[in-house]
Amino acid sequence: MQPTRLLWFNGEMVPWESATVHVMAHGLHYGSSVFEGIRAYDTPRGPMGFRLTEHVQRLYDSARIYRMEVPYELCVLVDACRRVVRDNGLRAAYIRPIVYRGFGDLGVASVKSPIQVAIASFQWGEYLGEGAVENGVEAGVSSWNRIAPNTMPVAAKAGGNYLSSQLVAMEAKRHGYQEGIALDHQNMVAEGSGENIFLVRRGVIYTTPLWGSILPGFTRDAVIQLARDRGLEVREEPIPREQLYLAEEIFFTGTAAEVTPIRAIDGLQVGEGRRGPVTRQIQEAFFGLFDGTTPDEHGWLEPIEDQAELRRGA
Ligand code: PMP
Repeated sequence: MQPTRLLWFNGEMVPWESATVHVMAHGLHYGSSVFEGIRAYDTPRGPMGFRLTEHVQRLYDSARIYRMEVPYELCVLVDACRRVVRDNGLRAAYIRPIVYRGFGDLGVASVKSPIQVAIASFQWGEYLGEGAVENGVEAGVSSWNRIAPNTMPVAAKAGGNYLSSQLVAMEAKRHGYQEGIALDHQNMVAEGSGENIFLVRRGVIYTTPLWGSILPGFTRDAVIQLARDRGLEVREEPIPREQLYLAEEIFFTGTAAEVTPIRAIDGLQVGEGRRGPVTRQIQEAFFGLFDGTTPDEHGWLEPIEDQAELRRGA
């Protein structure tokens, strides 16, 4: 990852190098942070954040679950997300806001540790490796299950949850796969370490329901809507593991991974072993939002540019 020049840190733009955290920060010791991953795309209408405000709202939702009070209004953080892209001279970027308990008190239930907020923005290409979006990846089912609902809330995008994701992803890499898939506490398919999952069988698209130990992904939601808009049938229902071995197509969705086909699972080829026709149709619809070939009917694109400045220039 290439650092950029500036990031937003507790209310101001500061040089990348100066945005540091104390080693006794609560978040570092106990995983008490919540974060987001947002992409901005360089579209014919200028740089646009994909579902930017909804992502920032999810950040507040995650914070609320952990009783962290974010010391800024939502619109301030949305603006800051746009600003870190602009001020770094980027047009397409990955935006990473994080809210965490800083240094103050080391009690586990500490409410004295100050809530800190940082937002970085940088370039990030294909998350699962170069060419993954076109050629697909190999994935494996993990021996680590996803967190059960009564252990830690999966709907909160919290730093601590990614310990589970790290085990899943590291195990997958050890086995030579690019990504791992976790089953839920009932051994039904949950999701990838950082992606939701879809499969296609006999013309129907299936994905894990929201109550199936998954993060409610915005890319997942967009793909469901884009597919239904095109008359494709999408069913949100529990997926037994063996359905992965019978699927004609499987793909991951996520902000970082976008729409990435899975060409083999646990060493078994999926379909023809390359991106299938439904996956291609979904990709065209999704990426079309950013090159202007798919109309933004759902209002998912939000301008990164400074609106006041644009109005002055107009
Ligand atoms: N599941 C997990 C565990 C994730 O980390 C992500 C990435 N945020 C997703 C699913 C996909 O969510 P989204 O499409 O909102 O990025």
